[in-house]
Amino acid sequence: MATASAVSPEVRAKYEPVIGLEVHVQLLTESKIFCSCSTRFGSPPNSNVCPVCLGLPGALPVLNKKAVEFAVLAAMGIQCRINEVSVFARKNYFYPDLPKGYQISQYDKPIAEHGFIEIAIDGGLKKIGITRLHLEEDAGKSLHEGFADAASKTAIDLNRAGVALAEIVSEPDMRSPAEAYEYLTRLKEIILYTGVSDCNMEEGSLRCDANISVRLRGESKFGTKTEIKNVNSFRFIKQALEYEIERQIGILESGETITQETRLYNATEGKTYAMRSKEKAHDYRYFPEPDLLPLVVDEKWQADIRGGLPELPEARRSRMIQEYGITVGDAHTLTLTRAMADQFESVAAKSKNPKRIANLVQGELLGRLKAAGLELEESPISMAGVAASADLVEAGTISGKMLKDLYDLSFERKLDFEVVYEAEGRPEQSRDTASLETLADEVIAANPKQVEQYRAGKKTMIGFFVGQVMKASKGQANPQLVNEVLTKKLEA
Ligand code: ADP
Ligand code: ZN
Ligand code: MG
Repeated sequence: MATASAVSPEVRAKYEPVIGLEVHVQLLTESKIFCSCSTRFGSPPNSNVCPVCLGLPGALPVLNKKAVEFAVLAAMGIQCRINEVSVFARKNYFYPDLPKGYQISQYDKPIAEHGFIEIAIDGGLKKIGITRLHLEEDAGKSLHEGFADAASKTAIDLNRAGVALAEIVSEPDMRSPAEAYEYLTRLKEIILYTGVSDCNMEEGSLRCDANISVRLRGESKFGTKTEIKNVNSFRFIKQALEYEIERQIGILESGETITQETRLYNATEGKTYAMRSKEKAHDYRYFPEPDLLPLVVDEKWQADIRGGLPELPEARRSRMIQEYGITVGDAHTLTLTRAMADQFESVAAKSKNPKRIANLVQGELLGRLKAAGLELEESPISMAGVAASADLVEAGTISGKMLKDLYDLSFERKLDFEVVYEAEGRPEQSRDTASLETLADEVIAANPKQVEQYRAGKKTMIGFFVGQVMKASKGQANPQLVNEVLTKKLEA
């Protein structure tokens, strides 16, 4: 990755970056926001279109109720206040992929405002303000390759025109690319939990424009910002911001001024390039959409939607740590997706040792899934299988080594743990009493204090001795038998 004009660490330290993000998420409605056309991704070009989304004269928009509910749900997930009345507006601009010559969006009365997302940064928590969430329609797509005559022509696919989007605008509250990265990670996680979008960046269902300026530390006014558009991964957004910070500092240090403009990031070169000068709001000649009534989401409807709001990731992690005695790290891994958290909890709630299940998921299951290129939903070992294996290790019926072998077999045979465990006929355990006796004698000899306690009446010490012998046998002994042998010797 290239770095911008060399800015020394000392010079860089004089400046503070200021970042605000605008994120578009495509809502998972089956039809578009103002017509009944399908939103299916990958349909033949221009097959999901009708007079409304083609902007033909006389066609009128009809608002999709589901889009409203999804937007409100997302807004609740990021702690926004829902506006009971919001207004659609026309944002006018001329572009080949915008057939009507305007986009229906929301302007001064968006559906939701004043939210926040909490991010973990430098060992603490920081609130990043959300200015607004509004509903709007997507534009079509210009294609510059992949068809005949592509060298001399641009093709337009309007399947995406009119697809429902929620745009989430943050306050300029972030102070480093790392904070921006963390904000995006948490935002995506919350949106995925609410289920209103699949947030698939490759398919464009989550898109981010990053606004950035720099100012001298201690300065209270913001500097002039630039906007980096259409970067298709969080990692690239972080890189683009790093580059842009150095570029802007370089310009200011040489006594020049920043031009407010929209820039594009070239990930291969690691550089941003000027694309166009930034439009101002008045360039868009916003005015209320005359073909749509103001949108009213009354208290009753809001309450109904709120009923569908799941427990959010951060709250869920705190509760899971309390409830299952797992670590912060465990909780983070186990809540990576809502499905994984649901599955874990469904077995952990019934288990005597949820922590061991958590360890097995992280230590044995996820690595094997990754190596096999499988998603959790495709795992041969179900969460119930993991729980069953945890119980077997807990009881000393199988050793850690046997568990690993059985997991390998499960993945090889694509069969759940319990099936393989039964098929393998409960792995051979050592019933070799003679060697068990030797191990028991050794353990008893090595732990006179514990023997004394046992003989003084503390019978629960037996667990300690069984554990020691199991360990000495590398998990190969039969715990029941070990128990018998030890009891006999200790009672003697
Ligand atoms: P515009 O009118 O240029 O679109 P907005 O005020 O609507 O600007 O803000 C767009 C985004 O840019 C928001 O996410 C906001 O937080 C961010 N932003 C605004 N001013 C700055 C600034 N000086 N530096 C960095 N980000 C900014
Ligand atoms: Zn349509
Ligand atoms: Mg704006």
